[in-house]
Amino acid sequence: MRKGLLAAALSMSVLVPATAADTATAEAASAPTRAQTQTQAQTQAQTQAQTADAIAKASWFKVTPVDEAWIRALPMDATAATQAYMDRIPAPVLQRSNAYYEGGYWLQLWHLLLGLAVAAVWMSGRRSARVRDWATRVGRGPLRRDFLFSAVYLGIGALVSLPLTAYEEWWREHAYGMATQTAPAWLIDWLVASTINLLIGAVAFVGLYALMRRARQNWWAWGAVGAMVLLTLVIAISPVVFEPMFNTYKPVEDGPLKQSLLRMAQATGVPAHDVLVFDASRQTTKVSANVSGLFGSAAIRLNDNLLRRTTDAEVRAVTGHEMGHYVLNHIPKMLMMLGMVLLVGFLVAKVVMNASLRRTSAASGVEDVADIAGLPLLIAIFSIFFALATPITNTMIRVQEAEADQFGLALSREPLAFAEGQLRLVEYRKADPGRLEEFWFYSHPSTRSRIFAAMRWREAMNAAGAQP
Ligand SMILES: [Zn+2]
Repeated sequence: MRKGLLAAALSMSVLVPATAADTATAEAASAPTRAQTQTQAQTQAQTQAQTADAIAKASWFKVTPVDEAWIRALPMDATAATQAYMDRIPAPVLQRSNAYYEGGYWLQLWHLLLGLAVAAVWMSGRRSARVRDWATRVGRGPLRRDFLFSAVYLGIGALVSLPLTAYEEWWREHAYGMATQTAPAWLIDWLVASTINLLIGAVAFVGLYALMRRARQNWWAWGAVGAMVLLTLVIAISPVVFEPMFNTYKPVEDGPLKQSLLRMAQATGVPAHDVLVFDASRQTTKVSANVSGLFGSAAIRLNDNLLRRTTDAEVRAVTGHEMGHYVLNHIPKMLMMLGMVLLVGFLVAKVVMNASLRRTSAASGVEDVADIAGLPLLIAIFSIFFALATPITNTMIRVQEAEADQFGLALSREPLAFAEGQLRLVEYRKADPGRLEEFWFYSHPSTRSRIFAAMRWREAMNAAGAQP
């Protein structure tokens, strides 16, 4: 599920109209039979949360706890204070965290190579052309033909990569003590996500090939525009349509914390009327949060692990960061930057497609660019392009993340809680990478960079007399 279009959209996370919150409130207030189901759901949620906490407690991941005296003795100098935080990660913990994160680099490569191998098998020995001929017979009409072909291609691709995906998302997550799901539960999630990916992907390719037939030489430009429209749409609907398929979202219980978060929203003009919590503990022990919203509505969404296991100050620091994404218009800006990358990607795809079809069309049976039988080649070209563009797309995101950090510090005024929260994330993100490594692989600044930014804020504000 973390791969593909839906995943890209989910990780960016956007529009959640207040409807999600409204529905939940309306549900809680309806018929008595509903109340019974509610209780069952609550018990189930509690069991999930307890399981997640037990797994987290038994985990290898521990940073050295500190007391008030440590905090009082923390140097005001940003570099020294950052080092004091980094020193709280024991060497074996650091090693294991590095191994987990670096394993992710290799997994990116294996996924790429597997995808290319699948494409190569399809394109050799006229296999792709034969599937196209079958889709032409069964589909009757270009739209249904292209849909059938794309669905078969994406379906086989998902099945072939299932072992690698299961290793990455289920087995490995359990090995590192972060997963909470049983294999069947994980498999159901995978099935749902793969079906959504397959349907969205197949519809997208039907549209793309219709564009190719119509726009001929200019298909790449129209293709990029179409991809942008689709991406925006998926991002807009996924918080209300797709994400509730995997997790339950409901309002956070009333109390001082919720009031304080809503006041922060009010102060910064984030149009959020409620704070939602979702049961991430159903899948993982990791902590996270996000703010989604477009077009004058927003939702603050915290994961239940964060709410249970961290202090209120940490939740405020995290939420301040998430509000930064909203206030700084990060999603529209990201879409515009991605549009540029997509435009280049489509142009590259056109040039490479034309060049390779001239050479191979006799052997592969693919007639021209607008022939759906060339889809495996087209997807392969895009995979290589986006793999090579990784440092660019990651840098685009990482810059925004650093901006959101700055915004969050200024809003929450919790540099220490922010730093404490960053230490938690070392469970799944290597704390202290090399510069080139951070440039290529990091979608967020490294732990050291983020803690340093917080300590620099603290030092400067202290010098300015604005922070105790
Ligand atoms: Zn962020």
